[in-house]
Amino acid sequence: MKPLPKNVIISVIVFLALLAIFSTYSLQNNEPKDVSFAAVVEQIQSQSVSSITVEGNKVSVTLQDGTTEVTQKESDASLTELLTQYGISTGELKTANITVKEQGGGAYLLSILLPSLIPILLLVVIFWFMIRQMQGANNRALSFGQSGAREMKDQKQKVTFADVAGAREAKEELLEVVEFLKNPKKFVDMGAKLPKGVLLMGRPGTGKTLMARAIAGEADVPFLHISGSEFVEMFVGVGASRVRDLFQRAKKSAPCIIFVDEIDAVGRQRGTGLGGSHDEREQTLNQILVEMDGFDPHIGVIVIAATNRPDVLDPALLRPGRFDRRVVIDLPDIQERESILHIHAQNKPFAKDVDLRRVAERTPGFSGADLSNLLNEAAIRAAKANQKEIKKEDVLESIEKVLLGPERRSAVLSEEEKKITAYHEAGHALVAHALPYCDPVHKISIISRGSAGGYTLKLPAEDRRLYKRLEFLDDMAAMLGGFLAEKEVFGDVTTGASDDLKKCTRMAREVVTRYGMSEALGPRVFGEAEDMIFLGKEIHENRNYSEKTAELIDSEVEKLVNGAQEKARVILKEQRTMLEKIATTLLEKETIEKEAFEALFQTTT
Ligand code: ADP
Ligand code: MG
Ligand code: ZN
Repeated sequence: MKPLPKNVIISVIVFLALLAIFSTYSLQNNEPKDVSFAAVVEQIQSQSVSSITVEGNKVSVTLQDGTTEVTQKESDASLTELLTQYGISTGELKTANITVKEQGGGAYLLSILLPSLIPILLLVVIFWFMIRQMQGANNRALSFGQSGAREMKDQKQKVTFADVAGAREAKEELLEVVEFLKNPKKFVDMGAKLPKGVLLMGRPGTGKTLMARAIAGEADVPFLHISGSEFVEMFVGVGASRVRDLFQRAKKSAPCIIFVDEIDAVGRQRGTGLGGSHDEREQTLNQILVEMDGFDPHIGVIVIAATNRPDVLDPALLRPGRFDRRVVIDLPDIQERESILHIHAQNKPFAKDVDLRRVAERTPGFSGADLSNLLNEAAIRAAKANQKEIKKEDVLESIEKVLLGPERRSAVLSEEEKKITAYHEAGHALVAHALPYCDPVHKISIISRGSAGGYTLKLPAEDRRLYKRLEFLDDMAAMLGGFLAEKEVFGDVTTGASDDLKKCTRMAREVVTRYGMSEALGPRVFGEAEDMIFLGKEIHENRNYSEKTAELIDSEVEKLVNGAQEKARVILKEQRTMLEKIATTLLEKETIEKEAFEALFQTTT
């Protein structure tokens, strides 16, 4: 059960307090003395009674001096009868001023009932809350079939293309959609057929959701937003009826946009049967297809879907007449990164030395979401330190935090571990520095971050999409640099290198099997792309090659790794003094920045 809201608790307390006050007040105010019947008789005889009120069996007596008393009489006799029996004369009776009241006066009843009523009321209140909560759940159960799509009409959070930096091509494509939504008639008159569906594809965080909202904002039409996973419920058939409901709502408010985020949750290839609930997914997907085929393209409903796994989508979704318009949103390049940073820097005070261009240079491979997160981290860091503005260090530190996870200064390494880590990282850095095709070393550190004990940060000088074979070879050598430095210096190796080895082996395999870069095997691809594995189809590796080829692949991978190892070993041997120098500097300073690192090389030669 959810904790009750604060104001409810307060109102219950106030209510109970009022009850308590009222009940004590009503009892206290005319708190009469309990007296015996005989005493009353005596008082009547002594003429000290001013009036008597009879209410059922209760006899309330007011005396001349204003005090009140009560007593009880027998229920089957009237007061006058009783008094006469006690020997009161008619004259005396007259002075007693007897009035008979209807039994059950409200206040009287309440004063009797209240004490027992309070706990009952309390129970009722508690039950009321419980029932209300259960009804909430019930309502949810009853509204299962409804789409639950949220409509965004709020003008305050309106997003336009101006809020989306970069992505020029994508915006141009989507402007067409906006045009259509603004003025469907123009296109219809020309006999043009407009796309029913637009599929936004791109890595997580590249701004797909943002872009879809921007389209709605630009076109100024209703925007029905639902996530693919919301179609998938516990009960079979719910997804399909939600789809029906969604399209019905859309048709009512046309022109409008239906936005299905993360459509891969329902749009996976049918028939793979992995993960149990595939029946439900299939029905939902079928319903989407039926609805998309069913509606008239002229009414002005456009379905926009977003996914970061276009490779797993059912081909039927991509057929013409469905999501035939596909817009790829790439990771931002340096120019785009800068403009994204500018957008997110708008309401943050930066120190003068913060150059967003430099930040963009340092963040290749960052998505829009990473960049926005990075500036946010920097702002939090600055606020924590009670600074007036965000400094350069805050931004630089945040880049590394986003890249590698938070620093773990508390993870204290023993002296020996520290030494090993220092040599390990020095090995990476030295080999990377010596090889022409490695990215320049930006920073070396032996402060652990995330899961890494230490790290050597290499960043490409510029954005790139293509990789050369020689770059792979040099990178592999640099990856093994840490492992080999440990071996060279301490004559033994540690588990610290396991991640390096894994990455190196994987890279070697990909060079051979995916990029066709091995002389012996030629320009062929072996096995299917690894990222399809979870689809079920590929759960047993799709081996489309013979045993003999498998052996050849293994031997080629081995050759590559051995070559890289040899290359790194030679460098470490030849520049052993340099290795020592880097490692001792690291032990002393814990981190070495790019400039300091390069300066180390200057002084020796
Ligand atoms: P996706 O849906 O592709 O995973 P989102 O649209 O949810 O990514 O993006 C997450 C956040 O990243 C956005 O809210 C926005 O703050 C930021 N962002 C991403 N791309 C951009 C961009 N091109 N311009 C400005 N901000 C962006
Ligand atoms: Mg998204
Ligand atoms: Zn390493």
